[in-house]
Amino acid sequence: MDLTLHLNPPPTEWGEVRRGALYGIGLKEAEKIIARYGESPYRARQLVEWLYHRHVEDWQGVSNLPKSLLGKLKREFLLKSLTLKESVKSHAGQSVKFLFETQDHHLLESVLIRQQGRETVCVSTQLGCKMKCVFCASGRSFNRSLMAGEIVEQVVWVEKNLGKRVSNVVFMGMGEPLDNFEATMKALEILQADWGFRLGAKRITVSTVGLTPRIEEFVKRMGGRVRLSISLHASDEKKRNELVPINRRYSLRGLVRTLTKIHERLKREITFEYTLLEGVNDTPEEARGVVTIAKPLRAKVNLIPYNPIREESFKRPSRERVENFREILLKAGIRVTVRQTAGRDIDAACGQLRLDREGID
Ligand code: SF4
Repeated sequence: MDLTLHLNPPPTEWGEVRRGALYGIGLKEAEKIIARYGESPYRARQLVEWLYHRHVEDWQGVSNLPKSLLGKLKREFLLKSLTLKESVKSHAGQSVKFLFETQDHHLLESVLIRQQGRETVCVSTQLGCKMKCVFCASGRSFNRSLMAGEIVEQVVWVEKNLGKRVSNVVFMGMGEPLDNFEATMKALEILQADWGFRLGAKRITVSTVGLTPRIEEFVKRMGGRVRLSISLHASDEKKRNELVPINRRYSLRGLVRTLTKIHERLKREITFEYTLLEGVNDTPEEARGVVTIAKPLRAKVNLIPYNPIREESFKRPSRERVENFREILLKAGIRVTVRQTAGRDIDAACGQLRLDREGID
């Protein structure tokens, strides 16, 4: 079998792993595989439904595919590429963090957050992150980007664990989704397809730190349907250069210009994520800067009081400082929420559990 038809092959440098995993294929790839085996075309749909509707874990469970076909699939493909190593519940039981191991023995994290009747999975798209935002655990190392299958499998195994379908998926875990563009696009296709997870586009949010050209491409490909969330973290170029180094390449000015074009064309809601760091970007002046950016875009702002990594290089602002910041935005007519950090006791901010388990300083 030529694995080039398979969109989810393992990187060639994994000498010991020869076979790609089936999770991550779309209907088209399934059709090619089935055609290559000379089977009836309708088997392709059955195959992807076993993956994304029934979350099959081993070949034994597959009852309606011919034994001969199963034998060939078994020889040519792995079924899955992630192994669940650990799950940690917060004390309040509101969130669960899942730690997975990849085939090449790296760790990645996903978080299930239960809030207001919704079950949201926060998925990772890379092993670490190249963007190196100074306050972020994920930005401390980078191994590789995840394959589409490794992204959707996080949802598969969280749903298995939960015993029901999740209501929302957010691409806000480890990594910058638009830096792993094609795999993110493939995962979005699988999440939305009727043969896939059947999740409405409005239930999916992709977060980016602001890779401007990729934002334009993303909106073009997704038609503005999937929600976009921008990690802002500062309202002027100088501060943003310090906190979010990619700003030196893709400036805040250029980012706002691109968002303005998107807003005028599509009238879709944009959300800004803003991590509040005490004494760094949580002053009234900063809040007024956020108003200047968010108001013309009619954007919503999600404030995230910082969740300190092991040593305290940055601090979480007091409740009063968070409230003052929020008030300034509210008074300016901005819709604003303050993220309750579900599960501070389980290191729920992205990349922190992995950091501990892999011993990354
Ligand atoms: S905040 Fe997001 S973009 Fe920045 S380093 Fe962390 S994961 Fe990457």
